[in-house]
Amino acid sequence: MGQLISRVIIVGGGAAGWLTAAILAASNGKQGEKQQLEVMLVESPDIATVGVGEGTWPSMRTTLQEIGVSENEFIHFCDVSFKQGSKFIGWRNGGKEYYYHPFSLPESYTAFNSAVIWNAQKEGQKSFAQSVCAQAIVCENNLAPKQVSTPEYAFNVNYGYHLNAGKFTDFLRQHCVEKLGVLHLQQNITSVNQDDKGFITSLDTQCGESLAGDLFIDCSGGAALLIGKCYGIPMVNQDHILFNNRAVATQVPYRNEEAEIQSCTLSTAQQSGWIWDIGLTSRRGVGYTYSSEFATREEAERELSAYVLENEGLAKVEELNLKHISFNPGFREKFWTKNCVAIGMSAGFIEPLEASALVMVERSAKLLSEQFPLNLQATEVLAKRFNKTMRYHWDKIIDFLKLHYVLTERDDSPYWLAHKDQCSIPDSLQDLIELWRYQPPWKYDSYRVDELFPSASYQFVLYGMGFKAQYLSGNSEISASDYFRAVQQKSNQYIQALPKNRALLGELKNKIRI
Ligand SMILES: Cc1cc2nc3c(=O)[nH]c(=O)nc-3n(C[C@H](O)[C@H](O)[C@H](O)COP(=O)(O)OP(=O)(O)OC[C@H]3O[C@@H](n4cnc5c(N)ncnc54)[C@H](O)[C@@H]3O)c2cc1C
Repeated sequence: MGQLISRVIIVGGGAAGWLTAAILAASNGKQGEKQQLEVMLVESPDIATVGVGEGTWPSMRTTLQEIGVSENEFIHFCDVSFKQGSKFIGWRNGGKEYYYHPFSLPESYTAFNSAVIWNAQKEGQKSFAQSVCAQAIVCENNLAPKQVSTPEYAFNVNYGYHLNAGKFTDFLRQHCVEKLGVLHLQQNITSVNQDDKGFITSLDTQCGESLAGDLFIDCSGGAALLIGKCYGIPMVNQDHILFNNRAVATQVPYRNEEAEIQSCTLSTAQQSGWIWDIGLTSRRGVGYTYSSEFATREEAERELSAYVLENEGLAKVEELNLKHISFNPGFREKFWTKNCVAIGMSAGFIEPLEASALVMVERSAKLLSEQFPLNLQATEVLAKRFNKTMRYHWDKIIDFLKLHYVLTERDDSPYWLAHKDQCSIPDSLQDLIELWRYQPPWKYDSYRVDELFPSASYQFVLYGMGFKAQYLSGNSEISASDYFRAVQQKSNQYIQALPKNRALLGELKNKIRI
C-alpha cells in the first residue's frame, strides 16, 4: 500500500486555508464519508490575512451547502448580500455608459445561440444583456435573486455573494473546528523538514514544536512558505498582459439605513485601473486596483476619494481609512509538487476583476478532495493532472480578464492605450477575437466540461463593449421578436415578484432571530 496519507497539514488561515480545510474535512475527514483524514490548520498569530476578497461566484453556494453551512446563518454572520454579476461602467469610452455580466445564462441558452439573433436585430434593441437575460433588469432595479419563501441556496435568478472577508474566515474557522473536527493551531512556522526524496516530513514552529504530516497544503498567501520558499517553484508573471499590481481599499458607510443594496459588483473604469464597489448589508467595500507603472499611490488615493465623494458624499481622503495592498499578477509554474499543494494566493493571483480568486480556491480544493491520494505513491500522477488542469484554468482567466480591456475605445490615458497594444494581448485571445468577428462565442470555444467561463460570459463582455460583428443567421429556431418579447415578459414578472435586496436580507435576518 505504501505510506498512507492520514494527516493533512494546511499552513495559513485566510479564506483559502479555511475553505480548503472545510472541503477536505467534510468529505475526507473524520466526520466525512471517505478517508478518515486528520485535518490540521496552522496559522500565524502575527501575520494578518489579506483581508479583502468580498465577491464570490455562484459556486460558493454549492461549496457552503456541501460543507454543511446554514445559508441564513452565513448571511447573518458575514454581513452578506447577494451578488448577481458585475456591472461595468465607463470601460468602453470612459463615460457613464455601462454593461452587465450577469450570472444567469441568456434565455434558452442550451437551445440556440442568442448572440446570432441579437446581432442581426440589434438596431433599436436594448443592450445585449437586457435583450437576452432577464437578470439584467433584476440587477438594474436592485432586486433580490429570490423570495423570502425560497429555500436556502435555491433561487429565481442565479447568485453568489458579497461578504465581509474578515467575518468570513471567522465563520469558516468556527464551522471547521466545531462541526468538522479540524484541528487548529496558532503558531508561526519557522522551518520545513524534508526527506532525502524532497517530500516534506514536518514543519517546525516558533514554540519548538514539530508538526508531522503526510500531505501539506500551502495556503500561506503571499508568503508562499512551502511552494515558493521551500520548493522554489517560480511565478509565471502576467504583468505584461494585465498591468494592475496595487490596490487601495476602504469601507464606506451607507448614507442611511434604508439605502438600497446593489445586486452586482460595480466596476468603474478609472484613468489607470478600475474601482470595485461592493454593497454589504452593513457598509460598502470600495477599492481602486491600478498599475504602479501608470499611477502613483497619491493619484490612486485621489481618484478613489473622488469616486467616493461622487457616489456617497464623503468629502475628503482624510475621512477614509485606506488600506494599500501590493501584488504581482501571476501564478506558479507548478501548484503541486511532491507532497505539497498550493491553494489560494500562494498559488497565484491576477487581479480582483470578475472575482476569480476564491473560485480557484474552491476548484483546487475540490479537485484535491475528490481524487484524494490514498498514499504518497499516487501523488505523482495526481500532481501532473492537477497542474495541467489548474494551468488550463489560469490561462483561461488571463484571456477572459484581458478581453475586458482590449475592446475599449478609451484613448484618454497611457494605461488604456497600453491595454490595446497588440503586444500585450495573448495570441490565444487574438485568435478568438478574430474568430468572433465571423461566429459568436459558443460551446466550441471550450475544451473542458469544468470550464470556468461559459461562452455566454464572453458574449456579455464582447457585445457589452460594443464589438462589431455580423453573423449568418441560418435557420433560427425562433423569431427575434418572439425571443425578445419572451425575455421582456420574464423581466416584467421578476420586477413584480422579487423583493428589493435590503428587504429580503432584513427578513432573512429576522428568521435567524426567531
Ligand atoms: C485587492 C484584492 C481584491 C480581491 N478581491 C477578490 C474578490 O472580490 N473575490 C475573490 O474571489 N478574491 C478576491 N481577492 C483574492 C482573495 O482575497 C484571496 O484569494 C483570498 O482572501 C485568499 O487569500 P489566502 O487565504 O490565500 O491568503 P491570506 O489571506 O493572505 O492568508 C495567508 C495566511 O497564511 C498565514 N501565514 C503566513 N506566513 C505564515 C507562517 N510563517 N506561519 C504560519 N502561518 C503563516 C497568515 O497568518 C494567514 O493566515 C482579492 C485580492 C486582492 C489583493
